[in-house]
Order: sequence, then structure tokens, then C-alpha cells
Amino acid sequence: MTSKADAVATAAVDVAREALLALVEPDDVGDHLATDVEDDRVVTHLFDCRKPGYVGWRWSVTVARASRQKAVTVDEIVLVPGAEAIVAPAWVPYRERIKPGDLSPGDLLPVADDDPRLVPTYSFGDDPLDPDARAQVRTVAKDLGLGRIRTLSMEGHELAAQRWYDGNAGPEAALAQSAPEPCSTCGFLVRIAGSLAVSFGVCANGDANDDGRVVAFTHGCGAHSEVRLARRHEPQPLPDPVVDELEDGLETF
Ligand code: SF4
Repeated sequence: MTSKADAVATAAVDVAREALLALVEPDDVGDHLATDVEDDRVVTHLFDCRKPGYVGWRWSVTVARASRQKAVTVDEIVLVPGAEAIVAPAWVPYRERIKPGDLSPGDLLPVADDDPRLVPTYSFGDDPLDPDARAQVRTVAKDLGLGRIRTLSMEGHELAAQRWYDGNAGPEAALAQSAPEPCSTCGFLVRIAGSLAVSFGVCANGDANDDGRVVAFTHGCGAHSEVRLARRHEPQPLPDPVVDELEDGLETF
């Protein structure tokens, strides 16, 4: 429901300006720009801000009139950005700003307990969110040699497969597009285990760009193990040396 503009609060421009001038320099306050009705008997007066560096900002002075009172009181004075104001970009949490390759030595990037890419390897009992109970279970699991606490979930597998397939080690990469043969037929491809093994392996060719990286079977490059140069591309044999026997010394050209 839209509140009705209170006549006294709406007319209290001078009261609002006076309160504002008690806090800021007179040169920083410009014309009265607008009036916003916030609620019943609550009105905000907006004044142009002339402070250097605050182009488009406005002084916002909110006044209110109590029921059955004739005068208003000042509730709040703040500086707010107008439509033309230069403001900082929207805040992006640190976790969302981190991109692959941003980590430096010593940086930590904790993974959330409920990260869908991971599933627990063993149960944490009746109260899996109790940190003490989790610590106890972890200690016992370590003593028993149960291995990793969490492993890649089905979703984690699918995300990784899609990322690798779409990336520089997939079939759409420029290297693969002009490769003579795919990785699946290359002798340098090392097989991996698990469900990802049906489409991916690791390149073990020290001369290839992808050495040590996961590559899709449909990826490929010019360093494929069975690549052979055409005869016209092979190094041409050098001509026999010519011996100049007219000079005193024996020189070879
Ligand atoms: S050398 Fe090239 S073709 Fe062979 S596995 Fe590595 S990337 Fe694939």
C-alpha cells in the first residue's frame, strides 16, 4: 500500500537543510532535488551533493512527524548515490573471485563440507555436522587406514570431464584440429583408472605441449608418436666437399 505524503514533513525542506548544514560544509550542499515518501508521516528530502569527487551523489535527510505533533524531527542524514553517481562495482565474495591459476605458494582455498563435487568415503555417524564427532571419526579412520576422507562424487566426475573436454586438451583445441592423428592412437598416451579412463588419459611426451596433462582421446597434436615427415620435408643430404688443389694450403669448402 502506498503511503500518503504528509504535508508538514513534505514542506520541511528548510528543517532538513538546516540539520544537514549542521553536519557538512555549506559549499557541499546544493539545491533541493526531490522528496520521497518513505512511510506515513516519514519523508526523505534529497539535496544535490557538491563535494568534489561525489558527482551524482545526494544528501538524503529523512524527517518524521509523530502522531498529533505539528513539528518534524530529523531521523537520519546520509550520502546516497544517484542514478549518475560513480560507485564501486558490486562486491564479489573472495571464494567466487578466485580463478584457476590464481593460487600462489602458501595460499589456502578451503573446500566446503557440503561441496557437491565430493562425497565422504565413510560415515560420520549420527551427527555428521558435529566437529568433535567428525574429528574422532577421522582419527579412527586414519588409524584403521581407511584412506581419504572424501572422494570425487559423480557430479565431480561429470564436471571434470566436461571441463577437460571443452578445454585446451579437448577435440576443439586448435592443436587437435590440425593434428594428424588423435591421442587415442598415440604411443605417448598413458592410461588412467576409474570412470574417466573411458575418454581421457595423460600425455607423456616431453616434446608435446600437453606433457603431464590429462588429454581427451579425441585430442591430438603434431607430436603424435606415429607422425612421419613427407620425403620433401626431410633434411636434404649435403653435397660432397670440394677440394681446392691450386693453392698451397689444403682448404675445404
Ligand atoms: S603427444 Fe600429442 S597426440 Fe600424443 S598423447 Fe600427447 S597430446 Fe596426444
